[in-house]
Amino acid sequence: MSTFSAPKGTYDLLPPESADFLAVREAISAPLRRAGYGYVETPGFEHVELFARGVGESTDIVTKEMYTLTTKGGDELALRPEGTASVLRAALQANLHRGALPVKLWYSGSYYRYERPQAGRYRHFSQVGAEALGAEDPALDAELVILAADAYRALGLRQVRLLLNSLGDAECRPVYRAALQDFLRALDLDEDTRARIEINPLRVLDDKRESVRAQLTDAPLMRDHLCEGCKSYHEQVRELLLAAGVEFEDDPRLVRGLDYYTRTTFEFVHDGLGSQSAVGGGGRYDGLAEMIGGPALPSVGWALGVDRTVLALRAEGVELPRADATEVFAVPVGEDARRTLFHTVTELRRQGVAADFAYGGKGLKNAMKSANRSGAALALVLGERDLAERVAQLKDLATGEQVAVPLENLTTEVLAKLNRPTAR
Ligand code: ATP
Ligand code: MG
Repeated sequence: MSTFSAPKGTYDLLPPESADFLAVREAISAPLRRAGYGYVETPGFEHVELFARGVGESTDIVTKEMYTLTTKGGDELALRPEGTASVLRAALQANLHRGALPVKLWYSGSYYRYERPQAGRYRHFSQVGAEALGAEDPALDAELVILAADAYRALGLRQVRLLLNSLGDAECRPVYRAALQDFLRALDLDEDTRARIEINPLRVLDDKRESVRAQLTDAPLMRDHLCEGCKSYHEQVRELLLAAGVEFEDDPRLVRGLDYYTRTTFEFVHDGLGSQSAVGGGGRYDGLAEMIGGPALPSVGWALGVDRTVLALRAEGVELPRADATEVFAVPVGEDARRTLFHTVTELRRQGVAADFAYGGKGLKNAMKSANRSGAALALVLGERDLAERVAQLKDLATGEQVAVPLENLTTEVLAKLNRPTAR
């Protein structure tokens, strides 16, 4: 123990579990990279104003959850609570939107929200996200949803459900918003919620309290107010998903906590996670670029939570293969053997074999224990008598079977035993 522990609401990623986080990031980003999304990385902090405008002054993220700070130079900054506003800011700043559209970008990183910590809800968490900027095309919305669904599938998750809705656009949403406000104003609600009706009435539909939910059964739904353009757009997205074999549930009450979403909106939920069931979400945000001082740039994107995806894997008992797990463990006895086997380990690694070594001058017994603990399939044992006979013992750690292999062919023999083609 040190005097310090990690701050509340944070946790450290340590081996072996940390390998699952890498595997999840890889599984989510690989389909994106294959679909033409380029990697973008932005600073961990931005001007507060970017999030205030880009995420929305009335959202919980901005009003309650942001980590803000004033620099010594007097700048008002915030640790990024989400990725979309930063990525859009970066793309506009570099004029990417003046080139070929859509601009397709993906990112992976840490995000910070001052929330009440609980299982699946942390103050520092990790997301992989994707944004497609500058095109209004139902196929683009469908592409992103399919890529996310395929990533979950590739990970072996079976209990992820996709909820889908349309939030309308600048033409039909205001009409719906007014109808919803009329309905909500007549309800018996607390003061905060009444204030929300005036600022962001859609979010009242997202209220989790039973006392509120019970009053919302007859609330007007966006679905019944979509204009012809939005209706046909949404129908095309649905058809493309169906054709791709991606299952979804129409959820006419699905809204997002963020102000800038238009049309397609979706969320991935996992049933094994209790109340923190959202593993990822996204949608179209045609109004965001203008909101942060840019040109009109219709766009769509999503962000998937890495932490909750790992929890979902655990909930389903999915074991991910460990990509770089040790295959061969070298156990030398004596100084000369150490030098020889150290060289062999280096050679094996250069040939692409995951190899490790009994460091720290352990005795044979302890070194064999390390070999077994490493999960390696093979141990290479070299004692003084072996050395005199110019052989090493190649031991199958599963069966205990052991063969003497000439030192000159050690690398080749190990590669053969691992069914690996030799490089030369
Ligand atoms: P929730 O409704 O659970 O608060 P959200 O709507 O705030 O989620 P988004 O802003 O859409 O979440 O972020 C996308 C994903 O990031 C979420 O689906 C979730 O998996 C993850 N996420 C968001 N906040 C946290 C957090 N505090 N801790 C861990 N993961 C989080
Ligand atoms: Mg939240």
